[in-house]
Amino acid sequence: MDYKEETKVCQNCKNDFIIEPEDFNFYEKIKVPPPTFCLECRTVRRLTWRNEMSLFRRKCDAPGHDETLISFLPPEENLVVYDSRAWWGDSWDPMSYGKEYDFSKSFFEQWRDLSAKIPHQALSNANAVNSDYCNVAEGSKDSYMCSGAWKVEKTLYSNRILVTKDSADLYIVFHSELCYEDVICSDSYHLLYSLNCKSCVDSYFLYDCVGCTDCFGCTNLRSKSYCMWNEQLSREEYIEKLSQYNLKDYKTISELKNKFRELCLESLHRFSIQTKTVNSTGDNLENAKNCKNCFDLTDKVEDTKNSHWIAVNVKDTYDSGPGIGDAELVYESFDTGVGNYRSLFTSVVYGTNDAEYSFNCHGSSNLFGCIGVRNKKYCILNKEYSKEEYEKLIPQIKKQMMEVPYVDKRGNVYKYGEFFPTEMSPFCYNDTQAQDYFPLDKEEALKRGYRWRDKHTNDYAVTIKAQDLPGSLDEVDEQITHEIIGCLHEGKCADRCSTAFRITVEEFNLYKRLGVPLPRLCFGCRHDARLKLRNPMKLWHRQCMCDKKHAHHEGKCEVEFETSYAPDRPEVVYCEKCYQAEVY
Ligand SMILES: [Zn+2]
Ligand SMILES: [Zn+2]
Ligand SMILES: [Zn+2]
Ligand SMILES: [Zn+2]
Repeated sequence: MDYKEETKVCQNCKNDFIIEPEDFNFYEKIKVPPPTFCLECRTVRRLTWRNEMSLFRRKCDAPGHDETLISFLPPEENLVVYDSRAWWGDSWDPMSYGKEYDFSKSFFEQWRDLSAKIPHQALSNANAVNSDYCNVAEGSKDSYMCSGAWKVEKTLYSNRILVTKDSADLYIVFHSELCYEDVICSDSYHLLYSLNCKSCVDSYFLYDCVGCTDCFGCTNLRSKSYCMWNEQLSREEYIEKLSQYNLKDYKTISELKNKFRELCLESLHRFSIQTKTVNSTGDNLENAKNCKNCFDLTDKVEDTKNSHWIAVNVKDTYDSGPGIGDAELVYESFDTGVGNYRSLFTSVVYGTNDAEYSFNCHGSSNLFGCIGVRNKKYCILNKEYSKEEYEKLIPQIKKQMMEVPYVDKRGNVYKYGEFFPTEMSPFCYNDTQAQDYFPLDKEEALKRGYRWRDKHTNDYAVTIKAQDLPGSLDEVDEQITHEIIGCLHEGKCADRCSTAFRITVEEFNLYKRLGVPLPRLCFGCRHDARLKLRNPMKLWHRQCMCDKKHAHHEGKCEVEFETSYAPDRPEVVYCEKCYQAEVY
């Protein structure tokens, strides 16, 4: 059909937003009405349901169990929580919680009633071996505090990682080993303190480097060895100069980090990181085609818009992520895939076709408003129907959702076509990834109607303050694993500071192998520091800043682009042609 661009007012923030003709075509294809929330409000609403790394201790509610477990579901929420083995076991039947659809009540209230009664899985942690503290993770082995993770081994304190080994403190890292404190890096070995790098080995403090080995404190390099602070040295000079730094010393590393940050600012910035990408906008895209306003995509993603953290054979997806893989026709969903076709408003739905408004369902088809359903067909609110009954009921329910919508405390109206209301989410705003990508302070969060979790600064009996730790790793022995270390920030920062932390034996051994000093900040503060190194998931229309002489321009380059560098930022941002001319 021929649609025209339309401007609408967001129900939630009251700002104008635009629906483009191609958007209408997509909504037509999946048969949902156009959104009533603007893009940012839709993304935030979805992320207020996504808790990757806030873990809590609570009781296991499985019959006969009374042990404490670790869960991403807060203990104060009135939910039934089973440990993973009990949840996957056959001692209970998800279908026994099924209910007839009540046409006098809003759909979302009925879904909430089901959610309040049915057992939930303590952690989203599938096929884990010795990895009890990993959440939203598949196939983790001997790992600790990893989230948004796929096939990680002996990896600690990392978020959004695929196939990593013997590493710690990573954020958006793929296929790497023996790495530490890296952000948006891939295919690397023994790379530390680096940002936006690919295929680098035995290197430290690199920004935007590809294929480098034995480099230190460098930016914008391609296939180099023995470079230090962007200066080419001989092998002997490099080894000699490197040996002058005590890389196990905390103060030395802090000073190097500051120097590196200044060097990064002075380096060239490509308007968008794109590898093998066609006709796409966004940032950190690899192997993407026709993707618009997308972030952190890898490994074949096509015809996708307004989505982030998506990998492996994804097609026709809008407003989705984090965590979509191997799926087609996805809308307003996260953690969904592994052979899905048509998933709308779903999370943790795998190997399932035609699912809407469903959570933690597996190997099924034709689900509407289901929770925990496995290997079933034609189910509504966990009640099974014949194909004919189901096909008759679904249009009636969608019609009823338009006529009897859910209205939240702020007066936002939720008809068919809206994601779940934030006020039904079991999480406080700052437990979720909404805080990672759209950070608010407590006052602002409460003003916008969100719940907030206060820091508990007195929860831990600190046995040593971070500032009293020995300077160098060489001065520390395994006794340190018995201490409770007070975070340098003492909970006074705006980060998700847990105020104290411990060093596990595995962690201590990894630090020794890597030759790095002990951290002085808790995991929450370290994660937030890494988040600050990435650009926001937002695009601005800008012009190339190059005024050098290049083949395609004299005087100022006039190429325009969409970039995640806001116009008021200090970095020098180049278009692809100018960047290529200077860097390669
Ligand atoms: Zn809005
Ligand atoms: Zn902290
Ligand atoms: Zn240019
Ligand atoms: Zn130029």
